[in-house]
Amino acid sequence: CGIFGVIGVTDAANFVALGLHALQHRGQEAGGIVCYHPDHGFNSARRFGYVRDNFTSQDVMQTLPGPLAIGHVRYSTAGKKAAVIRDVQPFFGEFSKGGAAIAHNGNITNADALRRELIERGSIFQSSSDSECIIHLMARSLQKDIPSRMEDALRRVEGAFSVIAMTRTKLIGVRDPLGVRPLVLGKVADGYCLSSETCALDIIGAELVREVEPGEMVVINEDGSVESSHPFRRQPSKFCIFEHVYFSRPDSIIGGRSVYETRRQIGVELAKESPVEADIVCPVPDSGTPAAIGYSQESGIPYAMGIIRNQYMGRTFIEPTEQIRNMGVRLKLNVNRALIKGKRVILVDDSVVRGTTSRKIKEMILDAGAAEVHFRIASPPTAWPCFYGVDTPEREKLLAATMSEEEMRDHLKVDSLRFISLDGLYRAVGEAEGRKTSCPQYCDACFSGEYPVAPSDQIEKGFQL
Ligand code: 5GP
Ligand code: SF4
Ligand code: MG
Repeated sequence: CGIFGVIGVTDAANFVALGLHALQHRGQEAGGIVCYHPDHGFNSARRFGYVRDNFTSQDVMQTLPGPLAIGHVRYSTAGKKAAVIRDVQPFFGEFSKGGAAIAHNGNITNADALRRELIERGSIFQSSSDSECIIHLMARSLQKDIPSRMEDALRRVEGAFSVIAMTRTKLIGVRDPLGVRPLVLGKVADGYCLSSETCALDIIGAELVREVEPGEMVVINEDGSVESSHPFRRQPSKFCIFEHVYFSRPDSIIGGRSVYETRRQIGVELAKESPVEADIVCPVPDSGTPAAIGYSQESGIPYAMGIIRNQYMGRTFIEPTEQIRNMGVRLKLNVNRALIKGKRVILVDDSVVRGTTSRKIKEMILDAGAAEVHFRIASPPTAWPCFYGVDTPEREKLLAATMSEEEMRDHLKVDSLRFISLDGLYRAVGEAEGRKTSCPQYCDACFSGEYPVAPSDQIEKGFQL
């Protein structure tokens, strides 16, 4: 998901709509905005679909007045249930000292247990979302002010969370102690904003101040003062390495590094680790493009656009059902026949999850008369599900969970298939020594199976580490 909030500007909701539009790649299903105006109180709008289709008309935007607003774009855990509007964030709660709204990116790994406990003690849930637990925990807290209630609530929560909250007078940002999901602080005109990624600061002309640190809470007041605290026990951070590979936008900056440059470097590492003779290097657009550029630069094999992407389609992966996903590949990608015919083609993509995309693309490329097809993948084999907010299917549906690399090559019927090594990936994100096995510098659980936070709800349901 993507989250964005702003305080201290005129018509904050307009800024949030723009910010969410820049974060649309983090969630395409639905979006919502909550705002506050001293004369009009809290207002909200929550809609299915793209930000640009819902939060551009004056009809909607004039119902969202005020100098303070937060928003959310949603990407649900696919396939589980039909999306319902009451699952769309931000969530709002009214407490003794005024209301608060929250927008959450990540996944709470003990949400089932918390929900059971809260329901037993009288909470009435409005949605099926794990994030709603935070509001109920805040409501039950005995603390007086809302930031302290939020601290109380988040100390009970396990897993990954970047949260943006607002009260009538404050904008609040928090990252979980491991800092799994991103969150940055920006300065815009006389106000401040919080965003999942820096690309959303650019769109509103905001300046990056800094990242919110893992385990940090920042409270931005109406008067423009910013307070910082560390409510959680300090731990080595475990930022999601897959944000670098796929999830974030290439024009974002994470930890002072350009995401584009990291992806290009992954391609360089891939070319060093897994060279092959071929005529052209083609990305599977758009997610494979920077890595393909790096592969081409390192290998000297010309880069070419062998697959053309229909710009009017979103991210395929985010379509919940298998059938739609199957069609999705063709709706979104087409082979550039004239270029491919007779060529030995290296195809670079970011990841193989179920193998749907790679299988379809290989068929399309061979139909177009390619002489050979070599896959190079910008992440290690995805053999484990993510429980921290990136939607991967159950373990059995992950190609790499049941097959070796050679079996996957056989299954995809390609001439060769290679994944970047975990160490190669760490080098590409700037860790010259590779992965520290004693204490990995990132979360890489979907590749290594080493989960930095035990996924306790899942374990209870029978998931085996
Ligand atoms: P597959 O078709 O193998 O199931 O999925 C791989 C494709 O899904 C890749 O092209 C990748 O760009 C895309 N993708 C989109 N969202 C995600 C995600 O959340 N996780 C992973 N691993 N891949 C994703
Ligand atoms: Fe990111 Fe993978 Fe960890 Fe999930 S399991 S947080 S996708 S690195
Ligand atoms: Mg892709």
